[in-house]
Amino acid sequence: MPRSVLALNAGSSSVKFALYDLARSNGLRLVSRGMLDLGDAPRLTAKAADGTVQCDRQFTAGDAHDAVIGELLNWVDSEVGGRKLVCAGHRIVHGGSEFTEPVRLTPAVIDAIDGLTPLAPLHQPRSLAPVRAIAALRPELPQVGCFDTAFHQTIDPLVRRFALPSKYEAEGVRRYGFHGLSYEYIAGRLREISPALAAKRTVIAHLGNGASLCALRQGRSVDTTMGFSALDGLVMGTRCGAIDPGVLLYFLLEKGVAADDLQAMLYEKSGLLGVSGISGDMRALEASGDPRAHEAIELFAFRAAREAAALANTMGGLECLVFTAGIGERSSSIRTAISGKLAWLGIELDEGANVAHAEIISSAESKVDVRVIGTDEEIVVARHSLALIEA
Ligand code: ADP
Repeated sequence: MPRSVLALNAGSSSVKFALYDLARSNGLRLVSRGMLDLGDAPRLTAKAADGTVQCDRQFTAGDAHDAVIGELLNWVDSEVGGRKLVCAGHRIVHGGSEFTEPVRLTPAVIDAIDGLTPLAPLHQPRSLAPVRAIAALRPELPQVGCFDTAFHQTIDPLVRRFALPSKYEAEGVRRYGFHGLSYEYIAGRLREISPALAAKRTVIAHLGNGASLCALRQGRSVDTTMGFSALDGLVMGTRCGAIDPGVLLYFLLEKGVAADDLQAMLYEKSGLLGVSGISGDMRALEASGDPRAHEAIELFAFRAAREAAALANTMGGLECLVFTAGIGERSSSIRTAISGKLAWLGIELDEGANVAHAEIISSAESKVDVRVIGTDEEIVVARHSLALIEA
């Protein structure tokens, strides 16, 4: 019976997963990739590596989260040809100052991660829900947590700091950075492509529903646009990105907006959705002829280019720009818009290559190597998890 690793990546209303078999060469072979939709109409869908549909099952509305996770485990055990899970690995949004590398998720560790919830009030409980469900259903199955913050440990303390009274720094009020598993994957791909490429001063643009940039020097994170929370930096699907803190004081003190309502506005009603009033989904905005959609796209590109230039400054130059995640991998027009605003840094695209979503989209004359690389957070989680349980 094949031995397998399950990697889970929990989002707001869904859990993406990938299932890998342990190959003889000690590598991992993708068996399935899928999604557990946990919304009003719970659903389990999975496809094989070649795209063949392996599962598409709907559950009764109101089925408990744990029951739906249980269906996934049963499906792995009995239906994908019969497999023995050796561990489940999870993407965990926040590791705080304490968790700087992957960790076995024992009950005490789960509690400690839960203790970081004030640092990521919306995201941390979502990360932990499938961990707890699996711990209850399969207490004997080893589980591993991999942190989105961990890749940014290499950022200089100065770059992490806020100019607040220094006692708050000791309390953990500082910049952490997120999307670390995606950045780790891309840094690894750059190394695989060539050591010379991996050594370049690089900005990775992870542009999905959540979006951030990471500055890589010698393959290590030296700056990033998300900070204390996943709200900072770029304009996102429904999040505002960097904002003058005076605006928040205005809402709280002058307009009497309740803190919970302000939180919901900043995380769920702002960004592309807030500006356009139409949608937080880039594809929908690109398809819309409404000028408000155009305005939201323009702001998205302007702010991404502005932040990319700031990261180039942290590195003292820019030699490589990588686009990844849903928007970065699939929207040639967003890549054109961002790259065009960075032309002064020597970026020039080969538009034919860009429209074709080629891996290298910069022109021969471009001073900056511009690439499109698909990200894969699940394989990073699976590799770390296996390495930890086999250590
Ligand atoms: P998440 O952060 O939830 O993992 P993704 O990385 O899947 O999100 O990115 C989702 C975003 O990518 C959405 O805004 C979606 O509209 C956008 N997107 C997906 N495909 C395309 C496309 N072909 N053109 C433009 N945007 C796209």
